[in-house]
Amino acid sequence: MLRIAIQAKGRLNEDTMSLLADAGISVAASKRKLVAQASGFPMEVLYLRDDDIPQAVEMGVADIGIVGLNEVAEKGRTVCEEMKLGFGACRISLAVPRDVDYTGPEWFSGRRIATSYPHILSKFFSLHQVNAEIHEIAGSVEIAPAVGMADGIFDIVSSGGTLVQNGLKEVEKVFFSEAALISNLHLCADKRTDIEKLKFRFRSIVDSRGMKYVLMNLPQKSLDEAVAILPGMRSPTVLPLADKDWCSLHVVLPEDQLWEKIEQLKALGAEGILVLALENMIK
Ligand code: ATP
Ligand code: MG
Repeated sequence: MLRIAIQAKGRLNEDTMSLLADAGISVAASKRKLVAQASGFPMEVLYLRDDDIPQAVEMGVADIGIVGLNEVAEKGRTVCEEMKLGFGACRISLAVPRDVDYTGPEWFSGRRIATSYPHILSKFFSLHQVNAEIHEIAGSVEIAPAVGMADGIFDIVSSGGTLVQNGLKEVEKVFFSEAALISNLHLCADKRTDIEKLKFRFRSIVDSRGMKYVLMNLPQKSLDEAVAILPGMRSPTVLPLADKDWCSLHVVLPEDQLWEKIEQLKALGAEGILVLALENMIK
């Protein structure tokens, strides 16, 4: 039986729980319990703070975990990155007060930087041969320059709104992160087999995100032109209709191309276009 460590509460918890649910795995909801039994897959769920997940997986307290790659890199624990999961996207950036005339990483030499990610930051500074003072603080990093604790900060950014509110500007995007499935390096063959089964389910969910299943009726004479403009795993599926001059066309489209392709298909005479949500895509 696999044991998976996930964030007990916080930004990754909800997306992690829905990934498990979409993969057919349900977990007893009580978060007050540290460990819960899952059903739908031979698995136990261990609820932890995200900071503790890389260590729990390295030590084998959990076999696998779902955590941000920022925490994996910061903690420097030896674990295997199995797959990226497509949620929890963010970056860790250097930011300085808005009115600073920023010239490049050397600006930070001899300056004080507040951060909760000292390890990732010191790697960046040594790469750029910058000698700065790194001050580790646990939270509210963004207010450090305003209260005179630091000259700049190194912190998580997703939209950048928090920086602007605090009179800061982003000057170096250092680390790009998203949630990932990680595993312990020394697992037995049975557990490896279970991880492959789990990854197969996760992969089909991650791949289907942002995709739509589209079906329509199309005049037979437009078929070649329609096939030419459509992407497809092999090509679109074409089914005959009772009326020999028409066919039914089925295709999977990325959401960002959906309306453009639909307009083109309509121009070719497509009718009765249905757009359906796609839950799983098994390649
Ligand atoms: P915990 O109590 O588990 O230690 P936390 O307060 O450290 O939680 P959260 O704020 O819940 O952490 O963020 C968890 C993870 O979500 C981050 O480590 C990062 O990978 C990801 N994340 C995505 N966007 C953001 C964001 N805008 N701010 C912070 N984290 C983000
Ligand atoms: Mg944390």
